[in-house]
Amino acid sequence: MRKINLDQLVRPNLKGLTPYSSARDEFTGVEGVFLDANENPYDNEVNRYPDPHHRSLKKTLAPMKGVKEEQIIIGNGSDEVLDLLFRAFCVPGKDKIVTIKPSYGMYRVLANTNDVGIEEVALTNTFDIDSKAILKAAEGAKMIILCSPNNPTGNNLNRNEIKLILEEFEGLVVLDEAYIDFSSSPSLMNWLTEFENLFICQTFSKAFGLAGIRVGIGLGCIQVIELLHKIKPPYNVNSLSQEVAIKRLENIWQVEQELIQIKMERSRLVEYLNQNKLVQIVYPTESNFILFKVDNANTFYTYFIERNLIVRNRTNVFGCQNCLRVTIGTQEENNRFIEVFESLVNEQIIK
Ligand SMILES: *Cc1c(COP(=O)(O)O)cnc(C)c1O
Repeated sequence: MRKINLDQLVRPNLKGLTPYSSARDEFTGVEGVFLDANENPYDNEVNRYPDPHHRSLKKTLAPMKGVKEEQIIIGNGSDEVLDLLFRAFCVPGKDKIVTIKPSYGMYRVLANTNDVGIEEVALTNTFDIDSKAILKAAEGAKMIILCSPNNPTGNNLNRNEIKLILEEFEGLVVLDEAYIDFSSSPSLMNWLTEFENLFICQTFSKAFGLAGIRVGIGLGCIQVIELLHKIKPPYNVNSLSQEVAIKRLENIWQVEQELIQIKMERSRLVEYLNQNKLVQIVYPTESNFILFKVDNANTFYTYFIERNLIVRNRTNVFGCQNCLRVTIGTQEENNRFIEVFESLVNEQIIK
């Protein structure tokens, strides 16, 4: 078991922190006359504060993930979980983190808003990681953030390289698995038993189809999860969101059905893009989007926009020059994508 030295990692000011104690912390029973939280007593289903510890949601989630409830933190989106990690471990103006590029833009925004240094190590030309380069950049860093499947490239990172990083790095290795349910490789969650320095972020926003309710998941060793609970806003996930997330988990077959459809549509779009003469590269994908390269992404992007078809232009992202990212939609939406793209192909041929 690879241990973590929390005492060395945590922000010194948090060591003696007394967390906020809410009314729902001080009395946790469900029966009674509740006159302790200054709520309006008239029942409209949401007049009471939500469970600050998200107990029911964790109870449903834990067996599905194969972890203990105490290894889970629920955030207002995984963006909040990531923010909590910065606030728990990184001293503003002093500490730094390391991540990869190209990857999810929020890592930089979170580092900047928390006044934490950030070094972005370039992925290889197959968009994979080089553990040596990352470890070298991470000397003295508090966290390494990796994303697999990676956004916007779509591929899984090499798990042997991730393992090397986990074995060597003294700080926390955060693995963002927002797209893991679309991947042919399983989550690295099982490694939590082996590595205390591993922290995994997942989300209800992508495969689970609940982007609107803002529920994210953090999975880690008990000490780290406890620390994050100490600093999180007490009622960070509202009661409606908790309810909807639980319902969705109870109807997991529905998610599975949708995943089958999305993956089928993904194969169809990959095939279409591969035979499209205007497409230079279709990058391998393990996610619900496809990154592809054309000769002029801006022109293509504008052409699509003029026809009410919105994809993501990634041309200004490091390593993604002239790349567009298309999310897998419904069959009808994807048909429309193909239809508009075909009209562009035909116009180009006439030119
Ligand atoms: C979409 C996405 C998330 C999800 O963020 P939420 O706040 O949970 O909606 C996290 N990481 C990556 C890489 C993403 O693309």
